[in-house]
Amino acid sequence: MFHIYCPWCQEHREEEEFHAKGPAHLARPADPENCSDEAWGEYLFFRDNPRGVHHELWVHAVGCRKFFNITRNTVTYEILETYKIGEQPATGAEADVVTLPRRQDAQPQPAPQTKVLAGGAS
Ligand SMILES: [Zn+2]
Repeated sequence: MFHIYCPWCQEHREEEEFHAKGPAHLARPADPENCSDEAWGEYLFFRDNPRGVHHELWVHAVGCRKFFNITRNTVTYEILETYKIGEQPATGAEADVVTLPRRQDAQPQPAPQTKVLAGGAS
């Protein structure tokens, strides 16, 4: 068991009080009514599988019930920082992103070797 610092409660609490809600800083399509079904589906359902440091959205479910972001290393489980929604992370995220096969192109594909700099704009 480990402890996570909630930036709203301003104290460390047991991990069991928290739930991960996916990647942070997802860009919503600017005009959902006029974007393609594919673009909207990508936004709603498809996520990358980063390996390394990246930003995640979490909720303090059995506590203040507020959402916040965590910068976490998915390899070592180390939490580098937590910060409130609307704040910018002090730590940049640099993770190798493994693109999962989509339904249409379910053929196995080699993992891309590109580095993705996540974070920044919310
Ligand atoms: Zn809290």
